[in-house]
Amino acid sequence: MEKKRIVTGDRPTGKLHIGHYFGSLINRVKMQDEYDQYILIADVQALTDNFDNPEKVRKNVRELAIDYLSCGIDPEKTCIYIQSMIPQTAELTVFYSNLVTIARLERNPTVKTELAQKKNIFGESVTYGFLGYPVSQAADITILDGEVVPAGEDQEPLIEQCREIVRKFNSIYGDVFKEPEIFLSKNKRIKGLDGNEKMGKSLGNAIYISDSPEEITKKIMGAVTDPNRIKKDDLGNPDICMVSYYHKLFSSEEECKTICEECKAGKRGCVACKKQLANNTIEFLKPMREKREYLEQHPEIVDKVLKEGTKKAQKEAEIMMKKIKQAMKLDYFINE
Ligand code: SF4
Repeated sequence: MEKKRIVTGDRPTGKLHIGHYFGSLINRVKMQDEYDQYILIADVQALTDNFDNPEKVRKNVRELAIDYLSCGIDPEKTCIYIQSMIPQTAELTVFYSNLVTIARLERNPTVKTELAQKKNIFGESVTYGFLGYPVSQAADITILDGEVVPAGEDQEPLIEQCREIVRKFNSIYGDVFKEPEIFLSKNKRIKGLDGNEKMGKSLGNAIYISDSPEEITKKIMGAVTDPNRIKKDDLGNPDICMVSYYHKLFSSEEECKTICEECKAGKRGCVACKKQLANNTIEFLKPMREKREYLEQHPEIVDKVLKEGTKKAQKEAEIMMKKIKQAMKLDYFINE
C-alpha cells in the first residue's frame, strides 16, 4: 500500500530545544516509517518577521538540519529540503492569493495570536507578507501533494484555511489537490525552566539539544522550585516545582516516585534534586549531542542531505505545477 505523504517543517530562526523535541521531533522520527515524510526548512517564512536579518535565517538553515539529523530524522526515509529553493511555492502562493480575502486572513485565530505576540516587530501595521503566510503555507503543503499535516491545536486554523483554499481551487479549476488532513499532536507543550508556558530563546528558559553538559547543569540549577521551601526539612510541593516537572521527562518512573515522596516529607534537598535532574538530562541528550558534534565537524554530510532532499522536492513540485497550470489554462507553448 502506498504511504500517505506528510508535509511539515520549521522556521530556521534558532536551534531546537527540548520543547521541539518532545513536541514534534519524537513524532517525526516515529512517523518516518509509516509515512512518506517531507520536512521543509521554511526560510522564506522565517523572513516574514526576520526580513531585516537574512544572515540569521541563512545561518540557521544548516543548524536546523543538524538538529533534525541528530534527533534521529533519517534522510533515507525523510526528505529534508529548503523552502526557498522550490520556486513553484511562490507561484502557487500568487495563484492562491486570489482565493482568499483579507478579512478571512485577519480572522484566522493563529494569525491573530501571533500578531499579538509580535507587536514589538510590527507595531500597529502588519506586513502583507506576514498576513499572507497562511496562504504561502497552503502552497507549501499542496505543491508537494501533502495529505497529512502534523500540528498542535494552535495551528489547526492554519490547516483549516489551507483546506478552504484547496476546496475553492478545486471547485473553480477542477480537482487538482487533495484536502490535507491534520494529524493532531497529543504531545503537550513543554513549559520553560522558569515555569512559563512557552519555552524560547528570548525568554532564556530553554534547554537546547546542542547545550553542553555545563550549560545544562547551569540552567537546571537556576530552575524554579517550590518557593515555600527554604530548608531541606520543609515539606515541599513537587506539583509547583519545575525540577519535578522536568524529572518526569528525563528520569525513570521509580526515581520520580521517590522524588515526590521525599520532597513532600521534607527529606530531599533541592540542590541534590537539581543535580540528579541535570545528570539524567545530560545522559538523555548525550547521543544527540555527540551526533551533533560529529555533523558540525562534517558539514559536507549535512549539505549533501539538503541538496539531495531539495532536488527530490523540486521534482515533485515541477510535476504538481504542470497539473496546476493545465487546470488554470496557463499551460502555454507546452508542446513546443
Ligand atoms: Fe522541587 Fe526537588 Fe526541591 Fe522538591 S526537592 S521542591 S521536587 S527541587
